[in-house]
Amino acid sequence: MGQDVLVITGGTIAAEYGTFKADLIIRDGRIAGIVDDARDISGERLDASGLVVFPGGVDMHTHLREPSRIEREGFAHGTASAAAGGISTVVDMPQADPLVADVASFRQKRDAASRSAVVDFGLHAAAIGQSIDQMAALKAEGALAFKAFMCASSPGYPRLNDAALVHTLRAVRELDSTLIVHAENDDLLQDGLAQMAAAGRIDPLAHAESRPPIVEIEAVRRAIYLAGATGARLHIAHASTAATVRAVARARKAGHSITCETCPQYLVMDLGDLLRLGPFARCAPALRDRAEVEALWAVMAQGTVAAICSDHSPYTLAEKQAGNEDIFKAPLGLNVIQVMLPSIVDEGIHRRGLSYTWFANLSAAGPARLLGLYPQKGSIRVGADADLTLWDMEQQWEVRREDLLSRHPWTPLEGRRLQGRVIRTIVRGRSVFADGRILVEPGTGQFLRAASSPAIAPAVLPV
Ligand SMILES: [Zn+2]
Repeated sequence: MGQDVLVITGGTIAAEYGTFKADLIIRDGRIAGIVDDARDISGERLDASGLVVFPGGVDMHTHLREPSRIEREGFAHGTASAAAGGISTVVDMPQADPLVADVASFRQKRDAASRSAVVDFGLHAAAIGQSIDQMAALKAEGALAFKAFMCASSPGYPRLNDAALVHTLRAVRELDSTLIVHAENDDLLQDGLAQMAAAGRIDPLAHAESRPPIVEIEAVRRAIYLAGATGARLHIAHASTAATVRAVARARKAGHSITCETCPQYLVMDLGDLLRLGPFARCAPALRDRAEVEALWAVMAQGTVAAICSDHSPYTLAEKQAGNEDIFKAPLGLNVIQVMLPSIVDEGIHRRGLSYTWFANLSAAGPARLLGLYPQKGSIRVGADADLTLWDMEQQWEVRREDLLSRHPWTPLEGRRLQGRVIRTIVRGRSVFADGRILVEPGTGQFLRAASSPAIAPAVLPV
């Protein structure tokens, strides 16, 4: 059987270790060479002249709703939307009915996703206070991390009180796994909701006022302290404040294994969007005011934030519209997976002057590293999976509903004018998205396990 060779010529490679001109040789789905000139190599050719080649995005926080609430999204639509947005790997959160908290539900979700995904995927499992044996079984099935709620926020997903959190952190340490926390202080949150109810507040801003930054920051600091005290690896989901990022930075300096992610909604949206869009901008943590958004950008260049994630949580239009009069009747979550990376390229690179290297780390290498998927995923180096996104960094375009591949094409970023567009997304050497269309059948995405000992040769870089 002959080998499958793809040669990508003329592009600018923008990896987590640098930006340079090179041609790529891809053999059987893996990067086989990074060379000055691949003109003499035979194989299928792709001309990337004028384009920038980033590692395919790794979105470590999605809610694709399969198998139980497929009417909201599903892996077929959700991963198509991801591919159109430059993402070649998604890692889905355990929210489902039943919750992915045991081996049977984990397998059910993995099988469903294997039939419908068009990009590669991994799964997290829920930490709800189950035994360490049950957690060990989930890890053995391939759970990349465990996710816990510190507040009652997600229906059907029991929160962990401090005692349960400590037990879980000890178990995670024992299993050499990672705990991802949704960090909001439950007492403060319930009090905020009660205050809004008592005042008869049902307007969009009442949502943000019910869970102000203090609700997040207190829980983050407590989780960091408990993780440090137990020696566990902790990852803070959807950091929405600069204070959270600073707390993570301090913990890392002190030698603890603490990381965090943020989402485009906390970087390119603010309270003005919540006021304008109401239920279609309701998420948790809530959108922040402009000063907080600017403060978050100010710490983005420092490298503490390991990952940009979508927290893509789609609902039907009817479910969101239920909050038109009363914001609290709208479910929490946004549809952003397809516009996440373009919005960060536009704002971070074009408007704020951050580098391609910064973006490659934030969107690909960072999340892949902290889930044990690196360097198979998240890099451009010899031996790695050929997961690549080709960008026209100059193209200006408008986010239009009709171009979204989600099952429910709405996004709070509709109407935005962005600079920088995904032209093609490649997964293991195969073009999954190009020319506005998905080019593969559902089920071509593969289930990912953490690689315990990756054996990858260092990339050969042109001098
Ligand atoms: Zn989430």
